[in-house]
Amino acid sequence: MNEYDAFAVEAKWQKRWAKAKIYEANVDQSRKKFLVSFPIVYLNGKIHVGHGYTSMKVDVYARYKRMQGYNVFFAQGWHATGQPIQGVAERVKKGDPVQIRILKQSGVPESEMKKFTDPLHISNYYKILAKKTFTKFGMSIDWRREFVTTTLCPPFSRFIEWQYETLRKLGYVKKGTHPVVWCSHCQSPTGDHDRLKGEGVSPVEFILLKFPFEDGYLVPATLRPETIFGVTNMWINPDGDYVEAEVDGEKWFVSEPTVLKLEDQLHKVKVIRKFKGLELIGKTCHAPIREVDIKILPATFVEVDHTTGVVMSVPSHAPFDYVALRDLWTKPEMLTKYGLPGDFAADIQLISMIKTEGLGEHPAKDIIEKMGIQTQNDPKTEEATQEIYKKEFHSGVMRENCGKYAGIKVSEIKEHLIKDLKAQKISSSMWETASPVICRCQTKNHIKILKDQWFITYGNEKWKQRARNHLAKKMTIYPPEARQSFEYTIDWLQDKACARKSGLGTPLPWDPEWIVETLSDSTIYMAFYTIARIVNEHNLTPEQLPNELFDYIFRNKATLEEAQKKSGLDMALIKEMKEEFEYFYPPDYRASAKELIFNHLTFYIFQHLAVFPKGHYPLEIEANGMIQVEGDKMSKSAGNTISLDEIVQRFGADASRFGLAYCGEGYTDASFRYADVEAAKKRMSMIFHELTKGKFSDEEQQIDRWILSKLQTRIADTANHYQNQRTRSAISSGFFDILNDLKWYEARSGAIRGPGYRTALLTLVDLMTPIIPHFAEEINEKVRKAKTFACHRPFPKPNKRLINKKLEEEERLIRNVRDDIEGIFNAIKKRQKKALEKIEIFIAPKWMYKVLSIRRQKPDNLIAKIMQEETIRKAGNAAAKYAQKLMKNPGYDSTLSQRAELAAITDALEYYKREFKAKEVVVMLASKSDHAKARAAEPGRPGIALTFM
Ligand SMILES: [Zn+2]
Repeated sequence: MNEYDAFAVEAKWQKRWAKAKIYEANVDQSRKKFLVSFPIVYLNGKIHVGHGYTSMKVDVYARYKRMQGYNVFFAQGWHATGQPIQGVAERVKKGDPVQIRILKQSGVPESEMKKFTDPLHISNYYKILAKKTFTKFGMSIDWRREFVTTTLCPPFSRFIEWQYETLRKLGYVKKGTHPVVWCSHCQSPTGDHDRLKGEGVSPVEFILLKFPFEDGYLVPATLRPETIFGVTNMWINPDGDYVEAEVDGEKWFVSEPTVLKLEDQLHKVKVIRKFKGLELIGKTCHAPIREVDIKILPATFVEVDHTTGVVMSVPSHAPFDYVALRDLWTKPEMLTKYGLPGDFAADIQLISMIKTEGLGEHPAKDIIEKMGIQTQNDPKTEEATQEIYKKEFHSGVMRENCGKYAGIKVSEIKEHLIKDLKAQKISSSMWETASPVICRCQTKNHIKILKDQWFITYGNEKWKQRARNHLAKKMTIYPPEARQSFEYTIDWLQDKACARKSGLGTPLPWDPEWIVETLSDSTIYMAFYTIARIVNEHNLTPEQLPNELFDYIFRNKATLEEAQKKSGLDMALIKEMKEEFEYFYPPDYRASAKELIFNHLTFYIFQHLAVFPKGHYPLEIEANGMIQVEGDKMSKSAGNTISLDEIVQRFGADASRFGLAYCGEGYTDASFRYADVEAAKKRMSMIFHELTKGKFSDEEQQIDRWILSKLQTRIADTANHYQNQRTRSAISSGFFDILNDLKWYEARSGAIRGPGYRTALLTLVDLMTPIIPHFAEEINEKVRKAKTFACHRPFPKPNKRLINKKLEEEERLIRNVRDDIEGIFNAIKKRQKKALEKIEIFIAPKWMYKVLSIRRQKPDNLIAKIMQEETIRKAGNAAAKYAQKLMKNPGYDSTLSQRAELAAITDALEYYKREFKAKEVVVMLASKSDHAKARAAEPGRPGIALTFM
């Protein structure tokens, strides 16, 4: 069965599609349009399986919509903004052996290496590869609308200039002073896409508390200043580097890495001396508010490069503190090695200061014991911390030992308390990343308060409100549970730096020292796609794309005449651009990985609302999980990513698409398995063989009507799955369920394959066309002998007239009886190893069907009700027993009548004979037999007796 050569078939159809230009979307006012988009792909490496997973979803939906008759617009552009491409070029220039090895391993030939010192060359190199990969993968892209971000593509750069001048004019871009994630090596804010680690991490404000110590202050940082009422001691890392420094005129004791952070956060800092943490161990400091002296103790969980490297200990409520304290209680050597008495911490008692329903007096102690956490560095401690924090924040109340705050909810105390602490001059604040951020240049980042930097005002409450409204009223989010993440992101979004000083990009037109960063020039480019065909075909220059032209096309803010005058372009051409934009916009659907909800996908909504007029805002977004290949998580830090090209070359496009579509859906992470891909390949080959070589009869049997009936459900289910981005479920219903139906058909019909069989196979191909389009074209040509493309066939619609529930129920009965016979046969055969002589099948007595029908009317007292029926009463005890059985199993029902059951089983006698190689198979009414098995018969569950030779 090797007549189906996937590689040859795929190459053939890709050529024909291109020749017929079937994916080129042009304005056609007689048809409804549908604009889908996949994020512009970063040109610093090959397209990997992760891209393949999301882009496949976009393509499948595009193809599904095309089959529904939409004029689908699917363009693709490329991303070059920021540090990554320039970083590669710089490292190659320096001869960095790690970078060169990574490039070689990914297939860059030695001869290219010299040219890889030029970012333009790198981006071109990967663009050509990526385009080839997408084409081979069978993506239905209109390639006339390509562009690259940054000044590598001057017309696009012009579009970004216009976008930012517009945003600034509207007050959405402002100069301001804000905390940003900062790379001290790059001397620049580090956008999410410029990070090796810590994508989505933003600045968090910690409260610094000043604990009097010697002639200055020991300064711990906390997100929970209210816990100061429960402080019992201070933690210092004895091996850490600390300093005594003058900070804004006071003397502070903090870790050494704190100095740079404080300086970058507008504090005046002068280091007096450096020392090891060990020096502080065993001393005491004064706890403000509680007004007692507390001990300074050693703890290894304290990290000197996180906040100030000084931690106040609240062991009743903070799991880390409890574990560290328990260590000192139980392991005296942890104290004696610093020259302290072994019982130095023995007098410390937990202080409970928050009361929370569902939590005990000392929640940290309870959870540590419950989770079985043994050491200070157990990662589960973080989980425990979050759990307690959430519960206490939402339902905790301050206890009596909290002075004037007693009785106040934890969620309401913070603001007051911080104000009070500030008034008493015992607090300050400091920004820190919630978790570590590493720049692509490998430097660990910190927070800098940047003065006079350009920000997008995502924190603007009015703008947020518009985003919330649009999201709630107009947008469909797939899967639905992703909506919450959008709402959360809108709530928490703050003003965001939109430019950086290094890397590739478009300079801000009014302040060209600054370059628009990667997440800021990728928000509304889908609008550029609509005019990109004309820009590319006419080689338009930036001078021909003045603000007035964009204002006219995209915002109705300039007249056609102004646009014409400033651009010097033909009126007709300008009108054509406007028509393309007005016809294809708004963007209907966009898909990306779920991580991008927290930045890109939400910015996409915000900026559309800011720039474009009403009616041009995004409508559907899908956010999908990450993908694992054979259990390995794909990671950005080069090494274990698998290129899409590798998979397509190995299995062909359709099988790869099938594997990717089948490996996952929704929010959970997907798991791609080669076995699925191999199986898909085999089955396609088999289907091709059956449809091209198989013999089909024209005579319609009952089983044909059955499979046509089942098929209507399969069609409806599959359409519903496609519409809701559930590709895996679409394959289950439109492929595997139909194959299983066909298996049953074959078993029932023997060698005969009737018209229903062929229709089911062809419908399966139709339903799978969005996923395996090349295969569908081949079948369309070779089997249907069609002259048009399968991609343009209408998506099947269920035909209600073909649905026959009774027939389906009858087949289900036949199948259940078959399974029962097999069960008994296997159990006995193992013992006796004999051939089957006779199968007797007993259909239940009529009164039982009556009991079922009475139960369907839901009487208050079933037994009383049935006993009113003479025919049932006659059955006596058996009737009561059956009724009791039904009452225990309220979900069970069987709707076939006795007569229908008898007819169905009679029809299947030949089948059972064949299936079990039995000499004789008979069916009779249980009432006409004395056989013990006859008494076991029930509606939907005939009695069965087997006789062996
Ligand atoms: Zn850096």
